Amino acid sequence: MSPPESSATSQTVQVRHAPGKGRALTTTTTLRPGTTILATTTPLLLLPSVANLSSICTHCLRSGSSPPRACTRCHSAYYCGPTCQRAHWRAVHSVECKPLSRLRAAGRGPLPTLVRLLVQALLKESIAQELADLEGNVEAIRSEAGGTRWADIEVMALGACACAGVGTGEEQVRRACELMCKIQTNAFNWSEDNPDQTAVFVEPTLAMINHSCVPSAEVQVAGRNIVLRASMAIQAGEEIEITYIDYTLPRPKRNEALAPYNFQCQCPRCRGNLNIYQASALYPHLDLNCFSLAPEVSQVHQHPAVVDTQKAAAANTQAGKVLADIESSATPDTESSQHASLCHRYQRCKNFAESDFWAMAPLPHLVADASSYYAAEENWSFALTTACLMATACDSYRYPPPFHSVRVQDLFRIAKLLSNTAADTSSLSQPPSSVVSKSDLNTRVQDTLKDIDQVSLCQMLLMMALRLIPEEFVKEWDLAVDAQDMLKDIGQLPGRDKALTLINAWATNPEADQSRKFFQYAVVDPVHTLASLGKEALEHEFRGA
Ligand SMILES: [Zn+2]
Ligand SMILES: [Zn+2]
Ligand SMILES: [Zn+2]
Repeated sequence: MSPPESSATSQTVQVRHAPGKGRALTTTTTLRPGTTILATTTPLLLLPSVANLSSICTHCLRSGSSPPRACTRCHSAYYCGPTCQRAHWRAVHSVECKPLSRLRAAGRGPLPTLVRLLVQALLKESIAQELADLEGNVEAIRSEAGGTRWADIEVMALGACACAGVGTGEEQVRRACELMCKIQTNAFNWSEDNPDQTAVFVEPTLAMINHSCVPSAEVQVAGRNIVLRASMAIQAGEEIEITYIDYTLPRPKRNEALAPYNFQCQCPRCRGNLNIYQASALYPHLDLNCFSLAPEVSQVHQHPAVVDTQKAAAANTQAGKVLADIESSATPDTESSQHASLCHRYQRCKNFAESDFWAMAPLPHLVADASSYYAAEENWSFALTTACLMATACDSYRYPPPFHSVRVQDLFRIAKLLSNTAADTSSLSQPPSSVVSKSDLNTRVQDTLKDIDQVSLCQMLLMMALRLIPEEFVKEWDLAVDAQDMLKDIGQLPGRDKALTLINAWATNPEADQSRKFFQYAVVDPVHTLASLGKEALEHEFRGA
């Protein structure tokens, strides 16, 4: 076995100077969409977020069947077993355990994730050295008007210096501030608004990649496996770009999200103020699209939001306003207020829905929340129709590569819901009482489901998802592990010989004419039928009085 590398390296990438952008990562060979450009399991820094600290293993980040056990000294690291505990001790815990124990003895709660990463950097010189090389926007942050960001950084730096026991003199705090700027600027998955992020990591090679709102690559993460994948064809010598933010949002929102990085985005989408459909049209026809729920996504060029530029520009502007309006209203906490909030949002987005702008913010967020709402009510068939709507009308345009992690999650979600609806259909149980009043639509949904071979659809979606994820994820990603269990269960169902023959032929040679026809019939058509029922479900449920 070769020794673990301290950072992701590959023959295919090169750090170069890019005019106006500082450093940039470029490829030395032409890359096909979906190619793994870089893969690592040993980023420079990696920690679960505080919210997940006690529920997942601090080293492998897996949740496992039983809860991970705390380090008996500091109670600030949790392990699935002795192998991970030893690996983490060698990697970094040996330097932080004692200072973290002291904090605990003093009755203090867990350190914020970024502060703890800084403690590690202050105590382990090799980490600080690798960080020193990265962009930190130190001067820009220090001289910012108002100075609140710098003040925050000083507080965190002071806390980390005190915890690490390196002294809190001017010199030490200044150095800690600089390191903190570099950690903040280059941390992946770190978001102040999203405490649900599983883990935060810093990886120097990936930190060299610049941002674009039309990214040519995506960083995918499962446990400790971090993979950089090409989202489109990238020619030799071309720059590789990822997104730092939720790039599906309208420009004002993107600018807001990019503000901490101290640059003005000059990507084609920002320059042309393109809407999400126009941005989607910038992705040339992708390989593997025939293997997706939306094979016609390459025809995005004919979408009204691309063709009717006037209408599209107006919608783009309106999206920003509606988004701001919705964000300013309070977040609901009870089920009935959640329903009321969805009604309010649907009414605000109604003309987007009527114009078929399902991929345009804030409509996708509404569809996702509506699907979760139905799932929480155990109304599986309506949750399914809205999940199909999300996968086809929203996400296939927002995330053009069919192997994008969001697209794959959509497949898993539909498959999971199908396992519920299939059970309901076969047991001929009554639909939940809450939908009886919408009897006509509900009857049509149930009739549609009865006509679909839900088990085969579920099986094919799971097979697709497992093929679309990086090899490294098959054993490491909770969703993928679940998918394999589900496939095993499906494989044991009796009386499916005919379906299995067709599915096996499709899986062996998906490009064949016969396979494509079968795929269209067994997967694409039913999912689109369900998606259009999903549109009706939203209209029915949330249009209000
Ligand atoms: Zn572990
Ligand atoms: Zn410890
Ligand atoms: Zn941009």
